Amino acid sequence: MVARVIPVDPFDLVIFGATGDLARRKILPALCRRHADGQMPDDARIIGAARTEMDRDAFLAMVSEAFDEFLGDHAPGPDCRASFFERLDYVAVDALGEDGWTALSDTLRDGVVRAFYFSVGPSLFGPLAERLGQHGMVTAETRIVVEKPFGHDLETARVLNQTLAAHFDETQIYRIDHYLGKETVQNLMAVRFANILFEPLWNARFVDHVQITVAETVGVGGRGPYYDKSGAMRDMVQNHLMQLLCLIAMEPPHSFEPDAVRDEKLKVIRALDPVRADDIVRGQYGAGAESPSYLVEVENPQSLTESYIALKVGISNWRWKGTPFYLRTGKRLRARASEIAVTFRDPPHSIFGEDAPWKANILVIRLQPDEGMTLKVMIKEPGPGGMRLKDVALDMSFAEALGDDVPIPDAYERLIMDVIRGNQTLFMRGDEVEAAWAWTDPIIAGWQKSADRPRTYDPGSSGPEDALMLMHRDGRRWREIR
Ligand code: NAP
Repeated sequence: MVARVIPVDPFDLVIFGATGDLARRKILPALCRRHADGQMPDDARIIGAARTEMDRDAFLAMVSEAFDEFLGDHAPGPDCRASFFERLDYVAVDALGEDGWTALSDTLRDGVVRAFYFSVGPSLFGPLAERLGQHGMVTAETRIVVEKPFGHDLETARVLNQTLAAHFDETQIYRIDHYLGKETVQNLMAVRFANILFEPLWNARFVDHVQITVAETVGVGGRGPYYDKSGAMRDMVQNHLMQLLCLIAMEPPHSFEPDAVRDEKLKVIRALDPVRADDIVRGQYGAGAESPSYLVEVENPQSLTESYIALKVGISNWRWKGTPFYLRTGKRLRARASEIAVTFRDPPHSIFGEDAPWKANILVIRLQPDEGMTLKVMIKEPGPGGMRLKDVALDMSFAEALGDDVPIPDAYERLIMDVIRGNQTLFMRGDEVEAAWAWTDPIIAGWQKSADRPRTYDPGSSGPEDALMLMHRDGRRWREIR
């Protein structure tokens, strides 16, 4: 099977922060892959922008080095590189000053899609929007892509939304959450809404509980001081895990149009129950044989910031009342694994007797590694020894099912092309982000009042012991992280 490539319209894409980590590691490689796949018309252009003074050749050399560093064996060959580089240009621009804005404005064409990617620190999102407005660079075809974090709390998110709204219509603002660009996450919607099989069971009557896990093996590394001001709740739960929860819990939208989907997600966020203090476990990784503790890495021995969080949340609506959602995410855990597991209730009656070894049906959607889905079902154990039951996994790895010639695109490839196409379905709307902060803020405020220390957990473990209790006391268990 060969992936279908739908070409996009001509565009000028300006990447603010083109010399930064995200641009070099993700954005520019993603664009090169879309170029290599023939998705860009001849007159699509990409303009790097940052404060560093350099000419076009120096920028191309930097991009080339980034490809070698981050793409390794998958780096584009010389021909592909050369043709991609024809699209590239560079302009030195200061988001906080006047330097470079006229030169940047002069490079842009009228009448084509004009996209500005804000791949800079969050304190520059507002100033960039203002500069674009002041320099008359906002046309009807203009859109902006805003990276995470979108605000630090409800108040800062509101202010940022207002600043952006002063210069851009909501239809021009693309708040990126790269989780939504992952193939498996989109497959979640395909599984739910393109099959008759699951939707009738997708409610509190048939679903016992849902687990959402995003586990990382890395620590905070070089992001220590930034991370310490944020923590797992702000860095992961308020955005990525919340988006996953929304896609699982939302009502079927009437179409795949952006606002149809985003309206339904918003309703879920607004229906989330406040989380009780004893339904949350926070953790910090301790020191390992070869790795420093969280406190050492962030250089703050008094830090109360969590590198791990597990919590239980209910949704107060007709579909989900009575079905808890358990979320957990953390750093320096046993394995790098992200998954959503929907555990169904037991059948109402067993014809195989009270002692039959019953195992619940579980639908697992794996985001990484090895994107795919598994459905655990009960079957008869083969052999003449009577009717003995056994649970087996109907396992589908997308790579195997679709064949090797359909590479799974990186989330940024999909999302940037959606920006050019003008499709906001996989981007967060302003009210969605604010609603997510409105749910998160009181939880964080509660910690700040109590000054409880996060529990220390061993690096390479599955998190603090107390997180196990969060499930055990409900008669449930976390799935193993592996
Ligand atoms: P970074 O490596 O620190 O890069 C920042 C970029 O901004 C550099 O290109 C820098 O270039 C430019 N810059 C700084 N001040 C500027 C100014 N006054 N005017 C114009 N350009 C300026 O940061 P990053 O890791 O790429 O992250 C960029 C954004 O993406 C952040 O909001 C981050 O939260 C978000 N993000 C990053 C990742 C990731 O994996 N890195 C993942 C998710 C989200 P000059 O110094 O040359 O100006």
